[in-house]
Amino acid sequence: MRRGKVGVPVFRFVLSPGPNIRTGAAPGPAGIAFHQLFHCVAFHRGYGVSNMAARHFPPFTSDEALARLKDGNERFISGRARFPTMQKEILAELAKEQHPHTTILGCSDSRVPPELVFDASFGELFVIRVAGNVLGAAILGTLQYAGQHLHTPLFVVMGHEGCGAVDAALASKFHSAKESSRIEVLLEDIVPALRNLDGSKSHEALLHEAVEANVRYTMRSLLDTPEVQARLVEGQMKLVGAVYEIESGRVRFLE
Ligand SMILES: [Zn+2]
Repeated sequence: MRRGKVGVPVFRFVLSPGPNIRTGAAPGPAGIAFHQLFHCVAFHRGYGVSNMAARHFPPFTSDEALARLKDGNERFISGRARFPTMQKEILAELAKEQHPHTTILGCSDSRVPPELVFDASFGELFVIRVAGNVLGAAILGTLQYAGQHLHTPLFVVMGHEGCGAVDAALASKFHSAKESSRIEVLLEDIVPALRNLDGSKSHEALLHEAVEANVRYTMRSLLDTPEVQARLVEGQMKLVGAVYEIESGRVRFLE
């Protein structure tokens, strides 16, 4: 991790046309100039003067960040992903500092890479991945870092259909299945999320409900922390739950 640092804003001009950084729209006749301008605004708005400025003028509001995730997932599903290759200009810019708009706590599952799922570029997402998207001491520390130093306005807890960790927790709860010792420790963080589930349902239905229940449990645990409560009161952040559907590629945001 690297803390965003104080620096003089450097306005970078991209010489090739590209999609609108916020809407994803292809550049029109005036697209190059607009693209150049928006790149500068998106990467530098509110930054470069001091960390205090970053705190008060984040480049995206929580609603803008959420809209960006939803738009990116739509592009991903429809085969219109716009970040297929490394962009050297962006890498050079990000080497100086990072200002991601969203922090995501997701599962380690190889089928759920947030940057691809949301068609997000380098520097957009601050991602924590752990089996079953559970909370733990190191995870909470990472989330606190994102809140205090990166000031991401949006936090997303994202589970996924067919999660093996949640499935193992179900087997532990309803069938007393045993795993290796360290996996057992992991499952202990998931089992409490499953307490209201009906074990007589079909495995498919039960796992579907368990995945969502696990996301909501993690969110409730986060909401219990004084840091999150304080930031929510300030109105500068939003905490959102989501479930990734591995067959369709769609992210279902929990309302
Ligand atoms: Zn999983």
